[in-house]
Amino acid sequence: MTTGTWHRAAADLSAPTRLFVDGDWRDPDGTEDPLEQVNPATGVTWATVAAAGPADVDRAVAAARRAFDDGRWSRTSPSHRRDVMLAWADLVEAHADDLALLVTTEMGKPIGDTRGIEVPALLKTIRWYAELADKLVDELPVTGPDELALVTREPVGVVGAIVPWNFPLTMAGWKLGPALATGNSVVLKPAEYTSTSMLEVARLATEAGLPDGVLNVLPGRGPVAGDALARHDDVDTLTFTGSGATGRSLLHAAADSNLKPVWLELGGKSPNVVFADAPNLDVAADMAAWGVFFNSGEMCTAPSRLLVQREVLDEVTAKVVARARSRVVGDPLDEATETGPIVSARQLDTIREYVAIGRDEADLLVGGEAPDTAGPEGFWLAPTVFGGVDNDHRIAREEIFGPVLSIIAFDDEEEAVRLANDTPYGLAAGVWTSDLSRAHRVSRAITAGTVWVNCYEEGGLSVPFGGRKQSGNGRDKSVHAIDKFTALKTTWIAL
Ligand code: NAD
Repeated sequence: MTTGTWHRAAADLSAPTRLFVDGDWRDPDGTEDPLEQVNPATGVTWATVAAAGPADVDRAVAAARRAFDDGRWSRTSPSHRRDVMLAWADLVEAHADDLALLVTTEMGKPIGDTRGIEVPALLKTIRWYAELADKLVDELPVTGPDELALVTREPVGVVGAIVPWNFPLTMAGWKLGPALATGNSVVLKPAEYTSTSMLEVARLATEAGLPDGVLNVLPGRGPVAGDALARHDDVDTLTFTGSGATGRSLLHAAADSNLKPVWLELGGKSPNVVFADAPNLDVAADMAAWGVFFNSGEMCTAPSRLLVQREVLDEVTAKVVARARSRVVGDPLDEATETGPIVSARQLDTIREYVAIGRDEADLLVGGEAPDTAGPEGFWLAPTVFGGVDNDHRIAREEIFGPVLSIIAFDDEEEAVRLANDTPYGLAAGVWTSDLSRAHRVSRAITAGTVWVNCYEEGGLSVPFGGRKQSGNGRDKSVHAIDKFTALKTTWIAL
């Protein structure tokens, strides 16, 4: 579509703005101020969404519990769950343009990415777990001749899901796919900025035949609705993607309530290690720049520390700076745009503080200001690269969550591994080398949930995703994700 067509569609956009509980739209109990939705590209308030309070959380959890206990979903056949979820994915696909437009308007991701990546990621995830629903097998361990043991998986019950704004549909899909395929009920709290797209997805699930109460979506504030969900004694497990600070608070909430398991996917400060023997420095530089400027750098796996072997430091730095300069930044409703605005004024302030810190600590090579191509309003920062960064600098240690890259030099493999691991995080890493042995050695030596060799951000639903150290625990995606939403039961039978 042309930019003009997207703009006209945006002007006509109508968004769901009420809570979605027990299969229907509900007004909140009225104690919470609504959430103003500000378009980050323009700074204009475009919608007002109801905010759930603790009483609404109680109502949603009760609806989810009723739905779980009476078996309307939890005790249906896996093939029925598959069919409903496939129908849901088809509806998501049929409404892809509307959903893409909602996400772009909510949080500024360019329309090419919401239409080409974000919405497809959701529907592929729903389809993948739909297909898994009737293909799981239980275990029959060996026993003595006079006994029989069955190890079966059961849904845990009511799942609380709290998701962020940077990939609002993808992250929700990674929780909902395995949770719903295995028969659970869910209460999902979207991030403050990105509720409308998720409310629409829940409506489509009901239209596809998901029974009332199985998926409830509660827009609301983290410290209010999110905290009430985390502390709820009738929530059986909690799954979260977001910041480390919130992750810590969820662990406290679980400890203070019913000791529910808490699955955390937190941030990162991922090292991207370019050795002088990288097979192609152009490709390495392309991916280094793409990885940290895609989605305005608002990405937990962003390769925000570029470690470069000294022999090729100048060459790689020049290539990355050139990529930063040529990145198309601007109107997120233009399909040619590669990087849109920052999600909010608050997030932009945080990133700007880090840019100021970086100016003191290191050398600003490009960026650091709003791009010339941005409109007069909204929240903008041009792709930004710092050279001469030391791994002890704050811009190399703390997650900035913006389009800001730190380039750090190293001399040999041992130093590269030491620097790569010298971080509180352990989400992901990149390694660029032509030496097969080195590729294996270094990828084994880096503590991270995912290591990409001679690529970055590759992978499909069949591979697990998650972090180590302060990047979290548990795994999204793949068959391993069902571990979070099912409990193993041993049944021992004397024959
Ligand atoms: P956040 O952790 O505050 O928000 C994520 C989700 O948690 C949202 O739905 C929010 O409402 C909820 N939440 C917040 N406080 C809560 C609480 N006390 N109890 C329960 N739920 C709560 O993240 P943010 O403020 O949106 O972003 C801040 C920083 O977090 C970013 O700068 C970035 O470093 C990090 N972040 C990481 C990811 C990721 O993918 N790992 C995603 C978003 C943000």
